[in-house]
Amino acid sequence: MSEPPRSLDEFGEIARLFLPLARGAPGAFELKDDAAVIPQRPGHDTVVTKDAIVESVHFPTGEAPDLVARKLVRVNLSDLAAKAAEPFAAFLAVSWPAHYTLRDRERFVLGLASDLEAFNVDLLGGDTTSTPGPFTCSLTAMGWVPTGRMIRRAGARPGDRVLVSGAIGDATLGLAAIQGEVSDPDGRLVHRYRVPEPRLDLRATLRRHATAAADVSDGLIADARHIAEASGVGLMLDLDQIPLSGAAATWLEGQEDVAASLLRLATGGDDYEIVCTMPSGATRPRGFTVIGEVRETPGLEVRAAGRIVDPGAGGWTHG
Ligand SMILES: [Mg+2]
Repeated sequence: MSEPPRSLDEFGEIARLFLPLARGAPGAFELKDDAAVIPQRPGHDTVVTKDAIVESVHFPTGEAPDLVARKLVRVNLSDLAAKAAEPFAAFLAVSWPAHYTLRDRERFVLGLASDLEAFNVDLLGGDTTSTPGPFTCSLTAMGWVPTGRMIRRAGARPGDRVLVSGAIGDATLGLAAIQGEVSDPDGRLVHRYRVPEPRLDLRATLRRHATAAADVSDGLIADARHIAEASGVGLMLDLDQIPLSGAAATWLEGQEDVAASLLRLATGGDDYEIVCTMPSGATRPRGFTVIGEVRETPGLEVRAAGRIVDPGAGGWTHG
């Protein structure tokens, strides 16, 4: 047996590491061409999104390469989920830092392969480079929606209710647990930070009911605000109504300042749930919680612990 290669040239790397991820998609041309051909689905629009993640900004330095890849896939698919799109294809760009060994690259590709397979997405192309800087990777993800049916941010109407899926704040507490500030005995909080779940399961519900939607990446308040700004409306959000997991509720019970703690959960981000608006007459769909209402006058009113609070800069920033 010969020694495994310490490095591969770019073509060798593509053939050995990435070709299996194309899963035989005809338009990928075995990743040997300059470009790919995107398949069309009759009666559908192709929805495209792109998110990049950077070591020490979006994931901790030294994070396991397979977890980085899985987070990359999931944050991108979360954007497609918020648009009620069904993912089918992705393009990858990755800049390996000098300290990344072939084994690290293989582990990254293993994580990428497992999630692309799980979400039924073909890798149609991409590019790899090395970098003197931090590990950086980005995905361009594509999905289909019936023609004209993408759920936009601009669609909220005065009188609509504001709803959010799942539970909010676990990822914020998960990051705090990694930093040793919060206890997380069963590891659930850290898992939600490291391997978020894109809410692709909510596609049909969003299509049926939502007037506007966004995924919660920057923070519940910030992303709800994006909907309000795009729609030219105002919002009232009542943080006493935000859905919490058992672990987050337990953490909240131990906090002295309930309003500040709720604000922390609602501004922390990385939840990858869906915040949306729906007409007030509609019955509340399963899996969603009503957290506020859309108002005609632009502006944001945030309530917590029964009073109006200042959401501060945390509700405004982009990550
Ligand atoms: Mg988004």
